[in-house]
Amino acid sequence: MRGVHRALGFRAGLRAVRGPRWLCHFIRANAPGVPRGDGLGLLRDAHSRTGGAIVPLSVLVVGAGPGGVAAAVQLHRLGARVRWWDRTGVIGGLLRNARSVENWPGMPVGVSGAECCVRLRDHAAAFGLFPEKVEATEFCESGTAVEVARAGGVTEQVDAVVWAMGTRPQPWAMARPELPVFYEFRDLPTAARRVLIVGGGEAACDGALHWMQSGGQAVLAVRSACLRARGGLAGQTLGRAGLDLRFDTEVIGLASDGTGVCATLRTAAGAITEPFDAVLFCGGRTSRLPELGFTTPPHGNLRLSPRTWVIGDARLGSLGQACIAMGDGLLAASEISELIRWG
Ligand SMILES: Cc1cc2nc3c(=O)[nH]c(=O)nc-3n(C[C@H](O)[C@H](O)[C@H](O)COP(=O)(O)OP(=O)(O)OC[C@H]3O[C@@H](n4cnc5c(N)ncnc54)[C@H](O)[C@@H]3O)c2cc1C
Repeated sequence: MRGVHRALGFRAGLRAVRGPRWLCHFIRANAPGVPRGDGLGLLRDAHSRTGGAIVPLSVLVVGAGPGGVAAAVQLHRLGARVRWWDRTGVIGGLLRNARSVENWPGMPVGVSGAECCVRLRDHAAAFGLFPEKVEATEFCESGTAVEVARAGGVTEQVDAVVWAMGTRPQPWAMARPELPVFYEFRDLPTAARRVLIVGGGEAACDGALHWMQSGGQAVLAVRSACLRARGGLAGQTLGRAGLDLRFDTEVIGLASDGTGVCATLRTAAGAITEPFDAVLFCGGRTSRLPELGFTTPPHGNLRLSPRTWVIGDARLGSLGQACIAMGDGLLAASEISELIRWG
């Protein structure tokens, strides 16, 4: 096996083992020095005394949503040397889209997602932590380190990684590059007025209420006969005066009409075509983990491999809750800190 790694240039770095996913997994799983057990104790040497000086454990946190903030701050508090990347360089992640957050203990009920993001940013800044605008594109793990590639090809070597990069939208077959179709509320053009929102879950309901709150017109097209969103959000959506809520309605065609889009909707009464300035598609989200070659682990499993942890929505594989992501971040930091030998 060692010979295979040498032949493939494993020690020469990540670039040398780029190629088919199965090959990278195979190399990762069989790399020299990777323990076959639970890997506990693996990181201890990374925080050891070298000539009298403490060499801190270096941990890369990828993502600056609520989960990434909690992990970065807690790792910093526990003495790790934290590298922190986010592809946007902005703190908040998906929470930046939320109209109203009702379940964040210590914050006023109904506080906006934008306000929560300001609080998260201030919290991280109080510890001197600011994410770099960097996108992680690939990684490789050996027995002694993790190498993570950033967009542009440069690789960084760290002792451990916390993946907090959330979810990406399920692609919509109807969407084409020339059409004004968006997947996140904050991407909707401010000049748009009449927006078609597709979906019946929390993001769709929150998006419809948010758009109307901003003074726009929203048509909420729900394929089934009821909302998937539950509780207060469903109640607010059903009771929102002026919201054009249509059940049993499916989008079966989209065409550009110059500045906007013409949507053909199949309803119980037949197909109708209507103009919109933009479409917000909220048809579910999926973990970004597979982009890095992982398959989503079962719930509850934060530790993916001896040196990598996954937290928040990326772990759940779908839209979760900010406090779950933050709890995951604290737990991952605490598990990593267990591996540090002090003094
Ligand atoms: C409309 C809406 C309303 C919501 N309302 C609520 C609510 O009321 N209450 C609640 O608790 N939750 C709510 N949520 C859910 C909440 O926003 C998410 O559960 C939470 O943001 C997940 O946090 P996270 O840190 O796991 O991931 P995210 O918030 O998704 O953050 C992931 C971050 O990783 C970055 N990233 C991704 N890939 C890479 C990469 N390769 N390299 C570097 N960076 C990368 C992204 O830029 C992003 O900043 C809502 C979500 C939406 C969309």
